[in-house]
Formats: sequence, C-alpha cells, structure tokens
Amino acid sequence: MLIILVGLPSVGKTTFSKKLSKELYKIGIDNIVLGSDLIRESFPVWDEKYEEFIKETTYDLIDKALKKYTVIVDDTNYYNSKRRDLINIAKKNKKNYMVIYLYAPLKILLKRNVERGKKIPNEVIIKMFEKFDKPGEKYKWDEPHITIDTTKEINIKEIAKLVKDHDRVHKKNSKILDNNKNNKKIFADVENNKIIMDKVDKITRNVVGEVISQEPSKTKDFAKELVKLRKEFLKEISKKLDNIDNNDFENKIKKEFMQYISKLIN
Ligand code: ADP
Repeated sequence: MLIILVGLPSVGKTTFSKKLSKELYKIGIDNIVLGSDLIRESFPVWDEKYEEFIKETTYDLIDKALKKYTVIVDDTNYYNSKRRDLINIAKKNKKNYMVIYLYAPLKILLKRNVERGKKIPNEVIIKMFEKFDKPGEKYKWDEPHITIDTTKEINIKEIAKLVKDHDRVHKKNSKILDNNKNNKKIFADVENNKIIMDKVDKITRNVVGEVISQEPSKTKDFAKELVKLRKEFLKEISKKLDNIDNNDFENKIKKEFMQYISKLIN
C-alpha cells in the first residue's frame, strides 16, 4: 500500500516515518521510505530548474517501489494536487493508500526548525503555514485517514496496527468487488463514496418530500416524474464523486438538486 504523509517542515515527518517503517517491518510489512529530498539532496545545490526532474523522478521511484513494497512517502505534500498525483499512482497500481496528516502549532514548528539548524528559513515556514491546503478541508477524497498531533506522545504500535487493518479491509473489499465485473469503482474509495451517497440520498429524499407536500394540487404523474429525476440526479452525482467539494456539502447538494428539478416545478 501507499502511505502518504502530509505536514509542514519540522512537524516530525522524517522522525515519524523512520519509526513507522521499523514498526511495520516488525509486524510483517516490507516497506521503504521515499521522498523528494533523496533526489533533491543529490544535486550539488538547490535550484528551481531541478524541481520538475525531482518531482518526476520521485514519482517514478514510488511507482516502481509500490509494485513490491509498502511505500511511505516522506514529503510535505503541501498541495492537494500533489496528494491527488500520489493517490493516482496507488490507483494505477491497484494498491490501497492511506493519508497520515501530522500537525503542530506554528510556534513549535519554528522552534524545532531553529533547533535543527534552520534548514529552511523561518519566514518560509510561516508563509507555508498561512497558505497550507489542509487535507480534507476542500475535498472529501482528500480527508486524512489518520491525524496526528506531534506535540503529544505518538503511539507508533497503534498506528502500525491501524495501517495493517486498513490494508486488510481493503483486500476484503477488493475481493468482493472483483466478483462484480460491472463495478469499476476504485476499491479504496468505496467506503467514503458510500457515506457521501447515503447523505445525497437522504437530502434529495427530504427535498422530494417537501416539494410534494407543498404542491398538493399536482397529479400522481408529477410525483412519479420527481422520483425519476431524483434517481437521475443520484446517478449524476455518483459519477463525479471525486470532485465533491467538502465545503458546505449538504447545502450545495440541496441547491443543486432544487435546480435540477426546477423545470418540473415551474
Ligand atoms: P520533518 O521531516 O517534518 O521536517 P523531522 O522529523 O526532521 O521533521 O523533525 C524536525 C525536528 O523536530 C527534529 O530535530 C526532530 O528531532 C524534532 N522532532 C520530530 N518529531 C518530534 C516530536 N514528536 N516531538 C518533539 N520533537 C520532534
């Protein structure tokens, strides 16, 4: 599986990934820690012009390693576009993935940064902190599986167990879905998508109920048509689950559905 770490510089990703790697090995999971610093630090100096190569080569390495081992990605993975790229590498290889988000207050990040000799200027960390795309803030697909406050004690054994259990559930799900040739869904998303669709089902059902109760003069055909539209709407939403916006999700879905059925009402 692919374990994607997310967190600002100095939050403790490298420290955490080394510990997790050892713990996973102890419970029988062969794994490797990879990150763009491996390539970045192989250049004599840092230069923006190397960054594209660094990114591509890191992705290639992850892709190759994932075919044999569990991979822990030790990078800030600051942008959700980066997280999406990594998730797509996992999907392409038909592997499970897990996002682990590590956080700490800015004051602590700066203190740790100074203590380890300011590899990065404090101002850069402040800017990153302010602009940070917190995982799951915007998109459902981006929600972290595990969130860790690195100012508190980290129970690495428990986390390794969660990782193992997550993989086990995935394997079970993929077996069930493998039997269904028509189901092209990506296995790892199944649980999350089901939760979203349950919500959409409930919201649209309520709207249909409201509309029918407000329009008692309408015929049976009107109700039938409404039910048909609701089904169509559910289908449409299920096709674009990857792009669901997490922000104010319930209200947005309600509005979109009202818009969808507005022709019938007016
Ligand atoms: P990152 O990889 O996120 O940049 P590191 O793992 O290199 O962060 O850690 C940055 C500094 O913080 C190091 O000096 C490390 O010893 C310290 N550190 C890491 N994790 C913790 C923690 N949980 N509690 C206190 N200090 C930590």
